[in-house]
Amino acid sequence: MPSSAAARSGTVILDHELLELVSALVCILRDGEVTFLNQAGVKMLGLDGGEAAIGTPFVDFVESDYRFLVEAGWDLLAEEEFLPLKLHRTDGTRFEAEIRVRRAPSPDELFLVEARDISKFVRSAEALREREERLQGVLASVAEGIITVNEQGLIETANPAVDRMFGCGRGQLVGQPMALLMPENMRDHHDEMFRLYLGGHHKLMGRSVEGVGRRADGTQFPMEISVAELRHGKGRLFTGILRDISERKENEDRIKRLAHHDTLTGLPNRNLLNDRINHALARVRRHGGRMAVLYVDLDKFKPINDTLGHEAGDAVLREVAQRLNTCIRGSDTVSRVGGDEFVVVVEEIGRPGEAAMVARKIVDVLARPIPYNEHACQIGASIGIAVFPDDGSTMDDVCKAADVAMYRVKHAGRNGFCFYSQSEPQDEIDYSDAPA
Ligand code: GH3
Ligand code: MG
Repeated sequence: MPSSAAARSGTVILDHELLELVSALVCILRDGEVTFLNQAGVKMLGLDGGEAAIGTPFVDFVESDYRFLVEAGWDLLAEEEFLPLKLHRTDGTRFEAEIRVRRAPSPDELFLVEARDISKFVRSAEALREREERLQGVLASVAEGIITVNEQGLIETANPAVDRMFGCGRGQLVGQPMALLMPENMRDHHDEMFRLYLGGHHKLMGRSVEGVGRRADGTQFPMEISVAELRHGKGRLFTGILRDISERKENEDRIKRLAHHDTLTGLPNRNLLNDRINHALARVRRHGGRMAVLYVDLDKFKPINDTLGHEAGDAVLREVAQRLNTCIRGSDTVSRVGGDEFVVVVEEIGRPGEAAMVARKIVDVLARPIPYNEHACQIGASIGIAVFPDDGSTMDDVCKAADVAMYRVKHAGRNGFCFYSQSEPQDEIDYSDAPA
C-alpha cells in the first residue's frame, strides 16, 4: 500500500512496505523535510515512531559540525557515493554514520536518503590504527634493526634502526634484496643459504649468527642476525633482528688484549708467552730443531725510579720494549713477565750461536742511553739463555734454566749473557758456528 507521503507526492509510487525490509535507515525528503522514515531509521534515531519524524528537517539529525555538508544542497549530496558524517539521536547521543542520497524520479524536490550506523566499524578501525601506531612506536624506539623479508628475499619493511644502522634514507630499503645489506663477496653465499632454507634446510632459524653488514657508503661492520619465520596466509615471511655489534667486538678485543698483553708496554704478558712457548715446543717436537728462551733482567733499573721518578722508569720500560722488538724476527716473541724482566723466545735456531747473536744484540741496544726529558738513562741487561731440548724437556724446566743462567750474569757483574750450559758468562762468544 502506498503511504500518505507517497500519495501526497502524487507523482511517485513508493512501496514503503518494501523500504521497511531494508536494515539501513531509509528516509524520503521533500524540500529537506522528512516525509517518510522506515522503522530501522526510527530505531537508529531513537524516535518513538515514524510519525514523530514527519516534517522534521533532516539536517536536525545531523551534528552541527557536519551540517554544512547538508546545507550545500541535497542535489550536490546526490552526486556523492557514501558520505561519512555524524548524526545524533533524539536523546542527544551521537553516532558515526554514512549516508547516500539519491534524487527520486519525480519533478518535485524528493530525495531518498539511506544511512548506516558505522560506529562499530569506525571504533574498530580506530582501535586498529591505534594498535598499528603503538606497534610502529615500539618498532621505532627499539635499538635493534627489524626487517621483514618475503620469499623472494626482498625487504618488505625495515624499522628506523635498520635505516640508521645501514645509513639509508627512510623507506629506501623497502623492495630491495636483503643481500644488499651484506658485502658483495658474501651475497652469493647468502642467496645460496636462503635457497637452502626455502628448500627445507632449517638450521639457521631461531639462532643468532654473526655476520658482516655493509652500509650504504660501502663501510662494513660486524653484526649479529637472528632470523625467524612467520606464516603469512599461504606464504612465508621472515623477520630478521639485526644488531650492530661493533662496540661489543671492540670490548671483546680489548679484554682479550688486556688478558694477553702488558698494559704499560703493550708486549705479550706471561699468559700469552706460555701459549707461544707451548706452541713453539710442540712444533720443535714435531719437526725437530731447537728453540731458545732468553731471560732478560735490566741492570740498575731501580735507580732510575729512585732518582727521576716512576714516570721516568715507565718511559724507560716502554723504550726497552721497542728496542727489544728490533732485535727479533717476526716469528719470535718478546714478553714482559715482571717489573724489569723480559723473556725472549727465539724459535727455530739451528745452533745455540744464533741465540747468542740475539742476546748480544740485546745487550748492545740496551747499553745505549735512553733519553728521558733532558736526562740520559743508563741501564744494561743481564741475559740467561736456555735451549730446548738441550737444557730441559718442558717449558718450566727451560724457563727455570734461563733464570738460573741470568743470575750467573748478575753475580758475575751484569751486562752480558750466559748459556745455562756454561758455568759462567763468557766475555767473548764464539760465533763461528752461527750463520753469516
Ligand atoms: P739489578 O741490576 O740487580 O737487576 O737491580 P735493578 O735496579 O734493576 O732492580 P731490580 O731488578 O731488583 O728491581 C726492579 C725494579 O723495577 C723494582 C721496582 O721498583 C721496579 N718496577 C717494577 N715494576 C715497575 C713498573 O711498572 N714501572 C716502574 N717505573 N718501575 C717498576
Ligand atoms: Mg733489574
